[in-house]
Amino acid sequence: MLFNEPHPLETRVLTKRMHEPGYNGTVEAYERYGGYKQFLKAVEMTPDDIIGEVKTSNLRGRGGAGFPTGMKWGFVPRQSPKPKYIVVNGDESEPGTCKDRVLIENDPHLLIEGCLIAARVVGAERGYVYIRGEYRYLIDIMERAIDEAYRAGWLGKNIKGTGINFDLRAHSGAGAYECGEESALLESLEGKRGNPRIRPPFPAVAGLYASPTVLNNVETFAAVPSILEMGGKAWADLGIEKAGGTKLTCLTGHFNKPGVYELTLGFPVEKMINEVGGGVRGGRKMKAFIPGGSSCPVLTGDEAWPLNMDYDSMAKAGSMLGSGGVILMDETTDMVKAALRIMHFYAHESCGWCIPCREGTAWLKKLLTRLDAGSGSARDIDLVGDLAKNMLGRTFCPLGDAAALPTMSIVKKFRHEFEAKLSRPVSVPVTSPDQLVSLG
Ligand code: SF4
Repeated sequence: MLFNEPHPLETRVLTKRMHEPGYNGTVEAYERYGGYKQFLKAVEMTPDDIIGEVKTSNLRGRGGAGFPTGMKWGFVPRQSPKPKYIVVNGDESEPGTCKDRVLIENDPHLLIEGCLIAARVVGAERGYVYIRGEYRYLIDIMERAIDEAYRAGWLGKNIKGTGINFDLRAHSGAGAYECGEESALLESLEGKRGNPRIRPPFPAVAGLYASPTVLNNVETFAAVPSILEMGGKAWADLGIEKAGGTKLTCLTGHFNKPGVYELTLGFPVEKMINEVGGGVRGGRKMKAFIPGGSSCPVLTGDEAWPLNMDYDSMAKAGSMLGSGGVILMDETTDMVKAALRIMHFYAHESCGWCIPCREGTAWLKKLLTRLDAGSGSARDIDLVGDLAKNMLGRTFCPLGDAAALPTMSIVKKFRHEFEAKLSRPVSVPVTSPDQLVSLG
């Protein structure tokens, strides 16, 4: 089932099969539409040639960080005597992001084929698809697809007579956003509490069970078969310089036609909102725009309209492309409530491992609750900004920054909305931050 009807402005590469009438994502349907041929092609190629095509494609990790995939695969020490692993990050939990579920739900064999190609590159014989615990139905779909692939000979020993062995399992997370962070995911997969690891070493060198591991997002693995099919150059040419191909983009919030759409990298924001997303709900003005999930700094409507959906364009504007989870807020949005809602999420999801994040998110939630209730003071607004700033870059994993960045941008750009809710006039002097103790 799809979230939405396809749009003519989409460039359907990863989603091309799922839009075919009657396509049901089974192994028979996948094979009928050319599935698994790219794995057989990969068997005829050298690992270096495959990595070369992925590098040429300019594929960057689709989970949010945007690290070049070919380079990441190149870091894996293929000559190491240790076993190599393939791990798929399907712990999609970022508010605003709902794209990996579309791929797993509608075309799970595309993901399996991407894993097989990665396994061929590094010589891995085992892989895991780590799926967010709340996506129970997707775990069932993935397990069914894996069973089909075993029965059809695409998984297991001596796959299709190639001499390649590869086993794949679906693994359920336990519902922690933190496990979307790659090292916490590996801890969780090893049966431990999902806290992040100190890095380096990075997973490419010492990942699952301290062995070399290729760890990528669902969409990243799913892009690889089409890169081999089209050739890295043709795939790169779909996007822009330094960011090739297409991106599954989730239009959420106040769109007339929300949904998950496959758009080329560098797609204009204005066209995406007005034509693909059907415009802002009720013909209203756009007040705020988040390009890539709730962890990205918030842009005002005026800032966002002239931009393009790519890594550099968003970075220059002071935000991030992130996971492609667009959140649009129209002019009726209460930005204090929006900041509080975002912080409620991060305070709940903080794993508690480090103090700036554990305490910072809790204090920010208290302050924002007080401001939203109309019982805050001007000092509280400054404290929100100061607290968030002091978390930035001082936490063990990116969750601390993820909580701080949207908060700082909302306070900076929509301060007047916070001031409008004050219980006392803005002229009340700002006093020492240690007055925070009065918040408890
Ligand atoms: Fe845990 Fe937050 Fe520290 Fe990350 S930043 S390790 S989520 S407490």
